[in-house]
Amino acid sequence: MDLISIQDAVKIIQNHIPPVRTEQLSIEQAAGLVISQDVLARDDSPPFTNSAMDGFAVKWSDVAGAKESNPVKLHIIGESRAGIPFHQPVEPGQAVQINTGAELPEGADTVVPVEHTLQEEDHVVITGVTGKGQFIRPAGAELKSGDVLCKAGTNLTPGCLGMLASQGFDSINIITRPRVSLVVTGSELIPYDLKPGPGQIRDANSIMLTSVINASNAQIVFNTRTDDNINAVRQGINKAADAADLVIVSGGVSMGPHDLVKPAARKVGFEKLFWGVRQKPGKPLYVAKREQTLLIGLPGNMVSTLNCYAFYILPVIKKMAGKTFEHKKVKAVMNKSFSNTDNRTLFLRVRLKTSGNKTMATPFAKQDSHMLTSIGQAHGFILVEPNGTVEKNQKVEITLYPWSL
Ligand code: AMP
Ligand code: MG
Repeated sequence: MDLISIQDAVKIIQNHIPPVRTEQLSIEQAAGLVISQDVLARDDSPPFTNSAMDGFAVKWSDVAGAKESNPVKLHIIGESRAGIPFHQPVEPGQAVQINTGAELPEGADTVVPVEHTLQEEDHVVITGVTGKGQFIRPAGAELKSGDVLCKAGTNLTPGCLGMLASQGFDSINIITRPRVSLVVTGSELIPYDLKPGPGQIRDANSIMLTSVINASNAQIVFNTRTDDNINAVRQGINKAADAADLVIVSGGVSMGPHDLVKPAARKVGFEKLFWGVRQKPGKPLYVAKREQTLLIGLPGNMVSTLNCYAFYILPVIKKMAGKTFEHKKVKAVMNKSFSNTDNRTLFLRVRLKTSGNKTMATPFAKQDSHMLTSIGQAHGFILVEPNGTVEKNQKVEITLYPWSL
């Protein structure tokens, strides 16, 4: 196994990310996804000129200069309500009672809020104004029909969904949720709700991977568990690859006689991009490609699986979903020293504790790749060079795990 660096592994994977797919979905299903084409406004916004306040629609020529010492009395001829416009024009000396969002009646050009009026039966007394056109929301002031409403690449946030609904879009072109398949290998594995027989272990990787994939922007379209049997692994990988653009395999990529993922993948047409990274955990990480379909084979040790998912696979899924993504990083101070006695780069898992403006990082004492406590309770990791040491009180940069954000 010729080991490559973490940086080279990231570069190779980045160069082979499956292309995005697009489809049309209802705006309800599209929440949180990314728009694949510019969307143009169908209507002006606001669609009609309306009032920004509860008050009275009037003619500026009637009320200019009105104040408490110089009140203006107008005749109320009706009401314009939200959803029930008033259809008669306002003539000199007249006012129409109006609500927020209600259409401005013809002839009116100004709204006087209730606060600056006194109402006397069918008359209103205006006691203050600031300017012509006050408290009016003109039609098209925000958007004109044909303006760009949402640019391609925009995340469908609640605000965007609201804009689309306001403009009567019931469906929208979006980037499809990345289609991911999961193949979990290992003859020793049993479902977690069964009692292990001799030598058997409960499958932990399936639930870890399904939960993190479901929390990403991807959809799991195929999921299987196979024995370490070449035909079973081959069939599993083939079906997985037919169904999805990204195939994630757990286990079976090491050096043992029962590590069959590489030969099985080769048999169904995958070509190796690399096998082996100078890293701990996750040394035998395997990446291959068949046409546009990417296969990432994760070493089965639980920490390797989860750490490699967070570091390598999540960015792939984000890119396939049309999202921008960078691992979030924070600065901290080491609480303890830790020496990496290996000649591979170590993902040193740490817990963070913040008090005041200081964040301390405590490395887990037990960092082996089967010791799930070292990642289950970790906030992130520090990359420690081969044979390097991080000293107590040293300032370090922690890459946060996506689930601790
Ligand atoms: P492998 O990468 O298949 O050689 O597996 C390495 C170690 O991880 C072995 O001790 C396996 O039993 C363990 N392992 C593999 N798959 C799983 C899994 N799905 N859940 C828990 N442990 C696993
Ligand atoms: Mg195995």
